[in-house]
Amino acid sequence: MSDYILETAGLTKDFLGFTAVKGVNLQVRRGTIHALIGPNGAGKTTVFNLLTKFLKPTRGTITFKGEDVTWVKPADVARRGMVRSFQISAVFPYLSVRENVRVALQRPLGNSFHFWRSESVLDSLNERAEELVYAVGLQDFIHHEASELAYGRKRALEIATTLALDPEMLLLDEPMAGLGTEDIGRIAALIKRVAADRTVLMVEHNLSVVADLSDRITVLARGEILAEGVYAEVSANPAVIEAYVGT
Ligand code: ADP
Repeated sequence: MSDYILETAGLTKDFLGFTAVKGVNLQVRRGTIHALIGPNGAGKTTVFNLLTKFLKPTRGTITFKGEDVTWVKPADVARRGMVRSFQISAVFPYLSVRENVRVALQRPLGNSFHFWRSESVLDSLNERAEELVYAVGLQDFIHHEASELAYGRKRALEIATTLALDPEMLLLDEPMAGLGTEDIGRIAALIKRVAADRTVLMVEHNLSVVADLSDRITVLARGEILAEGVYAEVSANPAVIEAYVGT
């Protein structure tokens, strides 16, 4: 079995003649927290969209767990174990924290919701939902409506609903965006716990969070990989400094 859970080869995306992602060979080692960083417009979101199949590549391949998934559907890639965290907008504001997680547990990956299941089936999901609520540290808010949660706690709920799908690999898109210092600490601790038994790939702008959490970092600039390594390596790389200063 390859050390790499995810690999791309020559991944390229053209938008009407503009190449947003150029020949990217990304390798994410199983069980690590891997950060994708780079200045605005570097192509990070496009890479995420290619990995999760929201976009089709112009060229190149994506291999997940040793299988070519370049052309599989978004739901298939999720079913195979690579899941992107849902945005806060996917949280139901007037359902409780526990019910939100329970609904996520009912979701057949990538398809429609199944609300018609019997009460007994729903009850059996409560236990698992409660475990997940505890896992993300929301136990004191379990019966609160999601709309009552502060922003950072909504992020934790968003992560809980993603974990409901039990992904082997979790893609986090700017998990710290809009959070204050205290929430950043809380979500960082949560990401570390989550990564104990799965792989995490995250796009994150907060470099101290990246330094704290990441085992490995890939720096993108103008659609290409500029540098790769541990934080000390990439942050000392003159080309990386130049790319950040130059924007
Ligand atoms: P990042 O997430 O690193 O800020 P993006 O992946 O969002 O970068 O964007 C990379 C480049 O691709 C940018 O120049 C952006 O304007 C361009 N781009 C992204 N999406 C599209 C699109 N749908 N159509 C045309 N250009 C796009």
